[in-house]
Amino acid sequence: MKLPLERLSATPTHYAFEADTGWWQQQLQPHWGLPTALDEPLVVALDAHVMGEDLFLSGSLTGGLPLECSRCLSRYRHALGESITLVLEPAGDRAPADPEGAASLTRDGVCFGDELESGWYRGNEIALAGYFLELIVLALPVKPLCGEGCLGLCPSCGVDRNVEACDCAGPVRISPFSVLADLRKDSK
Ligand SMILES: [Zn+2]
Ligand SMILES: [Zn+2]
Repeated sequence: MKLPLERLSATPTHYAFEADTGWWQQQLQPHWGLPTALDEPLVVALDAHVMGEDLFLSGSLTGGLPLECSRCLSRYRHALGESITLVLEPAGDRAPADPEGAASLTRDGVCFGDELESGWYRGNEIALAGYFLELIVLALPVKPLCGEGCLGLCPSCGVDRNVEACDCAGPVRISPFSVLADLRKDSK
């Protein structure tokens, strides 16, 4: 997933990358709590061009990640469809203030601002694996849901209420208050 810069011109050059489970496992840090395997490759389509010394990248990252629903605990495919818009300036003699950015500029030839929409590059080639990974991590929900209407597990008997009904007392309600209650539970 390296972009050779000397081949780029003012006319966009198209790149396509496929990221499979092997790639995914190389990038992963265990403490992220992300799935350890992909069910399907992630696909990145990228157009790159230069204007003056600035480098413009645009495109998309699509695919799906196997996540666990925070309500019913079932595994589901979480669809990813992230757009890529990135403008990179030559770093020149500048050095990023944050150590992570500085390390990234040395290692990958590129570092990014907070919103992942701009950054600096250095050298003849930039490695984009770290950028794609960060894009994915930012796109993931804090509380994954298999569907907006997921009924979750019964708090009394534990059955998956999407699959079967139970006789436990209390109506099944998805209300703003139950969402608040969930949040409180999580913050404890
Ligand atoms: Zn669910
Ligand atoms: Zn029940």
